[in-house]
Amino acid sequence: MEPLAPFSVVAPTSLAAALAALAEPEARLVAGGTDLMVNLRHGIGAPRTLVDARGVAELRGIAAQGGGLAIGAAVTLAELAEDARVGGRWPALAEAARLVAAPAHRAAATVGGNLCLDTRCTFYNRSAWWRAANGFCLKHRGSVCHVAPTGNRCHAAFSGDLAAPLLAYGATVEIAGPAGARRQPLGALYREDGAAHLTLAAGEIVTSVQLPPQPLPARYAKARARQAIDFPLAGVAVALGMAAGKVAALRVALTGTNASPFLLAGVEALTGAVPDAAWREQLGKLVQKQVTPMRTTLLAAQYRRRAAAALAMRLAAGLAGEA
Ligand SMILES: Cc1cc2nc3c(=O)[nH]c(=O)nc-3n(C[C@H](O)[C@H](O)[C@H](O)COP(=O)(O)OP(=O)(O)OC[C@H]3O[C@@H](n4cnc5c(N)ncnc54)[C@H](O)[C@@H]3O)c2cc1C
Ligand code: SF4
Repeated sequence: MEPLAPFSVVAPTSLAAALAALAEPEARLVAGGTDLMVNLRHGIGAPRTLVDARGVAELRGIAAQGGGLAIGAAVTLAELAEDARVGGRWPALAEAARLVAAPAHRAAATVGGNLCLDTRCTFYNRSAWWRAANGFCLKHRGSVCHVAPTGNRCHAAFSGDLAAPLLAYGATVEIAGPAGARRQPLGALYREDGAAHLTLAAGEIVTSVQLPPQPLPARYAKARARQAIDFPLAGVAVALGMAAGKVAALRVALTGTNASPFLLAGVEALTGAVPDAAWREQLGKLVQKQVTPMRTTLLAAQYRRRAAAALAMRLAAGLAGEA
């Protein structure tokens, strides 16, 4: 860990004040700081000002909205995991929140910070001297990707847990910035580029996440190196509705395997069928085709690919059995 470069902290209480503070040169938003501060201690970034999101009134609280729920970006993961409405109707989200890091992290970590988490790679989440000894890398200060040296793209993995269940539930996000506010599907927040995985423009803030009403039954599970505390090496959310013994609706979302979390494409072909062993095999194959884990973690990419497929098949079997 490096000593932190000097910076000042401002703590706005309104969204307008937060946006104004972020418009200043070299200002950076911080929420729980459980990801950002680690990066700063690794010499990744040296903002002159940190803008603390936690006191911004518009980012706080969980409220009913049109039969669904609006979750403020500064809501902590502990608050999210303990909310009875979330646990009752969107249990995969509560489950994912409970599986993030450790209790002390969850008390500080926020929903916005989890969705805007930096991507991770074994060549990147290192001290500055370690990275310097390797000539840094394409994502930060270097010119070569050590994972795929002949390419020109970073493959660092997005490793936030919440994105998968939120995608499976069809969540939208609200974003505010210098050009105004907008609402968009959560998937549009991301792009498949480990060095620039967020589509946010300069000075923009995720203000809230909206969960639509009438969620499908859903579950979340993740594979990780240490069960007690660790990022997902493959995180899977499955939402599955049954009618007359057949799959009536299916959404599968993945995190931890690619530079962005994503919804599995082509699941329509799996609806209208009985979710038997052959059906589960088909689902597993679809997952294996679309996840593209790279050598960004200590575990083999092929293991993560197969773990993602196995988790999807297991969750789907459980949900079909419960229906
Ligand atoms: C030991 C350890 C284990 C961990 N395990 C996990 C894990 O299992 N799963 C997991 O998902 N994460 C894990 N994390 C990462 C982190 O704790 C969580 O992802 C957490 O939710 C990040 O939220 P935060 O509020 O602390 O983000 P911060 O560190 O404050 O911010 C993270 C990034 O998001 C940006 N940001 C924050 N809020 C907003 C917003 N509203 N709009 C736009 N940008 C924003 C910040 O500028 C920064 O770039 C772990 C961290 C540690 C240290
Ligand atoms: S995938 Fe390549 S460019 Fe990206 S962080 Fe890892 S080594 Fe660096």
